[in-house]
Amino acid sequence: MTERLFFDGLLIVFAVAAVATFPALYFITAPYGRHGDGRGGPRMSATAGWILMEAPSPIVLALCFVLAPPAGAAPWVFFALWQAHYLHRAFVFPLRRHRSARTMPVSIALGALAFNLCNGYLNGRWLTVFGPELPADWLVSWPFIAGVLLFCAGFAINFHADEVLLRLRKPGETGYRIPHGGLYRWITCPNYLGEILEWVGFALATWSLPALVFAVWTAANLVPRARTHHQWYREKFPDYPPGRRALVPGIY
Ligand code: NDP
Repeated sequence: MTERLFFDGLLIVFAVAAVATFPALYFITAPYGRHGDGRGGPRMSATAGWILMEAPSPIVLALCFVLAPPAGAAPWVFFALWQAHYLHRAFVFPLRRHRSARTMPVSIALGALAFNLCNGYLNGRWLTVFGPELPADWLVSWPFIAGVLLFCAGFAINFHADEVLLRLRKPGETGYRIPHGGLYRWITCPNYLGEILEWVGFALATWSLPALVFAVWTAANLVPRARTHHQWYREKFPDYPPGRRALVPGIY
């Protein structure tokens, strides 16, 4: 079997799994964080789990770029966006979380590790080998400019929203409070909204199938979870702001 055949097969399986996961996660809530107590089998440190599951993304993408350095500037812009997100997600975010707080199921960490290996490989090989070579003027095309702006806006929203959450707890605390400020005025999960915008922007800027599939995966994971978080806040806090929606201001 050629690598191209393997790549295409993996991309199809990955795309079908993303579409199937979307409705499934309205019925099954991934057992980590506030929704995880006691479920999901053997557990590990959440800090180690986050590093283990997210680190393959920047590493695999970097390996792809080392093995087949692409010509032209556009792929290197995509490389920089990806690494900016994932170096933060894999190595800064886990260490900034309150470490004493929680454990996570080993099964969740291993599942996400496998996901990130596939996703890093599909996106890395598309950008360096299997995708079409982007024209020199792609850097001034509307999909590129709109996509990069969307990615940056999403990154800023996600970063700010996660910072607000991280500051809600004092060292050693494990409980939950109602977050306020920024997009929390209107929605429960601005961190998830920011993450979805980032990968929709990345798909637009790269005009690539693997990036589109990744954007669908991100929405499949986070849209149902935002709804579950929202219902959880409403049940736990009788004074939860009534006008706040789950993910999209005024709509959802
Ligand atoms: P959450 O919003 O559930 O939690 C983020 C952190 O904030 C956790 O440490 C959590 O603690 C803490 N926290 C959350 N709410 C409160 C509160 N009300 N009071 C005090 N502390 C709080 O996000 P996730 O853990 O699901 O995700 C973390 C990041 O990873 C997000 O930016 C998300 O976008 C991204 N992500 C991306 C995915 C993708 O498919 N691309 C999939 C999943 C996540 P605790 O753990 O104890 O609940």
